[in-house]
Amino acid sequence: MFSSVRVRLTCWYTGVLACVLVLLAFSTYFVLRENFSRRMDSSAAEIAGSFLATVSAETKDESGPKALQDALATAIAEHRLADTTFIALDSHGQVIASSEDHPLNLNGLGGLAALQSLRTVRVENHSYRSYVKPFTVDGQELKLILLQSLHRQHEFLENLAGTFAIVIPLTLLLASVGGYFLARRSLLPVVAMSEQAKQIGASNLRDRLSIKNSTDELGQLALSFNELLQRLDASFDQQQRFTADASHELRTPVAILFGEADVALSQSVRSPEEYRESLSILRSEAGRLKDIVEGLFTLTRADAGQYPLTVSDFYLDELISECARNLRTLAAAKGVELASHAGKELPIRADESLLRRMILNVLDNAVKYTPRGGKVLIACKDCDTGYCITVRDTGEGIPAELHSRIFERFFRVDKVRSRNEGSGAGLGLSISAWIAEAHGGRIELSHSGQQGSLFSIFLPTASPR
Ligand code: ADP
Repeated sequence: MFSSVRVRLTCWYTGVLACVLVLLAFSTYFVLRENFSRRMDSSAAEIAGSFLATVSAETKDESGPKALQDALATAIAEHRLADTTFIALDSHGQVIASSEDHPLNLNGLGGLAALQSLRTVRVENHSYRSYVKPFTVDGQELKLILLQSLHRQHEFLENLAGTFAIVIPLTLLLASVGGYFLARRSLLPVVAMSEQAKQIGASNLRDRLSIKNSTDELGQLALSFNELLQRLDASFDQQQRFTADASHELRTPVAILFGEADVALSQSVRSPEEYRESLSILRSEAGRLKDIVEGLFTLTRADAGQYPLTVSDFYLDELISECARNLRTLAAAKGVELASHAGKELPIRADESLLRRMILNVLDNAVKYTPRGGKVLIACKDCDTGYCITVRDTGEGIPAELHSRIFERFFRVDKVRSRNEGSGAGLGLSISAWIAEAHGGRIELSHSGQQGSLFSIFLPTASPR
């Protein structure tokens, strides 16, 4: 039951309300009680003052025990107040006058003479507030005790407590029922959303939650959920395209392998040259398969964040010269001039083998897509964010409308042309882009036209990871 938000909300709400009401009831009760006591004490002092003024006025002209008795009787007669008892004591603690016709049994008070000025006492099962005031008449030390009954006050406070005892549970009951329905009503859109969300799966990832009010919290929640669906949908699409492209790319070399093997096996007698030729075709296609599978493996691990960078300190200028040296033979065989220029020492902290792979990819593309007699120049210099490597060629260039797509996976400007030249599957630049990003840098096609292309790679001097 407590797993329901509605019930939990109601319990919290009722609990907090109960605490507030109980606190309010207790504080009201105690404040009123204090107030009553204070008012009673100050009125006791006033009444006693007035009583003693009468006694003193009456005993002014006469003296003797009779005169004192008469004066006390007059004062008692003049101060007949409901719920108030006057008792006069002599110096031995004996009662010499009392306003009660039937004298109260005061034995339980533990010695009247010992009574303190203001105290709550119990006499004959009744609570009284006592006030004691010493006074002298004709040199006699006397005491006036004023007892004010607390009966009415107690009755009022008891009624108040009784009212609280009924009103608080009733209020809590009403509030919890109201609170439950309110919570139910406010959470209805969430229930509806969850029902809608349950219907959305891989087959209808384009469906969205309906939004009634996009400005309130629930509308915002639905909006965020829809945005999440949008992102999932896009990545699902991308994943599907990736899988389709990957299988398409893998199918061609596999078909060639099968075809070539079948041809070789179908003829019972073949010359060693023919076998050699078949094997070399098989080897070249197997190499192509290996490149594609390795590329896919790298990208999959990169996507999953599982490709660790092995960072070390080295010189970028040396790495660039090494890459240029590695490709010089290939470029020379194609009749392309390959030059490198990295003037000064460029220390860097990065993954050397990944940077080598990225530079070779971009440089290899430049050589591959530059016709005989062309030129390729790789250079590196400082720039404000670190280093900037530029690879410039005098090749055929990339059509302007395709500039934004060349870093996509499996994208090739001209698929037929690329395959015929025995090039990659269109993964090289995607892997290069990931390597640059993994180092906190980026790669961009700065310019490409009929005069050639210019790729720029920006790298920080130290990898952030
Ligand atoms: P591939 O392995 O096919 O070269 P890449 O991802 O490295 O794949 O490159 C994607 C496509 O971008 C290539 O197929 C090619 O069409 C185009 N391309 C890349 N570099 C150049 C360049 N320097 N000149 C012209 N086209 C290029």
